[in-house]
Amino acid sequence: MLSVLKKLYTTTLDVLFPPICVACGASIPDQSAYVCLACFDALTIHTALTCPACGGRRHLTLPPCHKTPYILAAACAYHDPIPQLVWYFKYHKLERLRILLAALLITHISRVIPDISSYIISYIPLHPRKERERGFNQSHLLAQTVADYVHIPCIPLLTRTRYTESQTKQKNRTQRFSNVTDCFACTNPAACTGKNILLIDDVSTSGGTLLAATHALRAHHVRRVIGLVVARVD
Ligand SMILES: [Zn+2]
Ligand SMILES: [Zn+2]
Repeated sequence: MLSVLKKLYTTTLDVLFPPICVACGASIPDQSAYVCLACFDALTIHTALTCPACGGRRHLTLPPCHKTPYILAAACAYHDPIPQLVWYFKYHKLERLRILLAALLITHISRVIPDISSYIISYIPLHPRKERERGFNQSHLLAQTVADYVHIPCIPLLTRTRYTESQTKQKNRTQRFSNVTDCFACTNPAACTGKNILLIDDVSTSGGTLLAATHALRAHHVRRVIGLVVARVD
């Protein structure tokens, strides 16, 4: 009975809202796919880490172009369909998108971090008030999915000490930086000491969030921090 209802429901939805690609609007056979084949094919996964200072390619074994507190692992470029996929996931918690975005992250780290078992995974927290409003933390969901897949622990390490405006609402880079400075505190110093940490966020906008979070972790003598995001917003 339930499956009949479900079928009726999805068929009705398909009639009312014909399934279309969230990125380009092309019609697709099944809305649970979210993107058309052409947009899916447009996804390219980066083969190198990124310098957060200049956006250049970075390798763990080569001398860095800039000495930075963390290294950025940005899975993809921020062009279609990535902004749409991230937006739909962030505001609608779509299950298929969790798996798709986590797959991009996993493929990227498998290419750029050879010793992944020497890391622990953590994530950028939301302020508890914001998490209650949204109902979930998209970065935590991605972090847990990646951790389960690569069999390394996902450990909460940070908390937000201030409620901040959304980074995307801040007008310029300076505002974005001052918006997040000192807004994180480490909740589990014992888990940090001597560790390599893969710190997951959905996207990196100014780098201010990952930098502030890294500072909170570095106070507890972590070894290396890699900020892992779906994309770096230029
Ligand atoms: Zn499309
Ligand atoms: Zn650089």
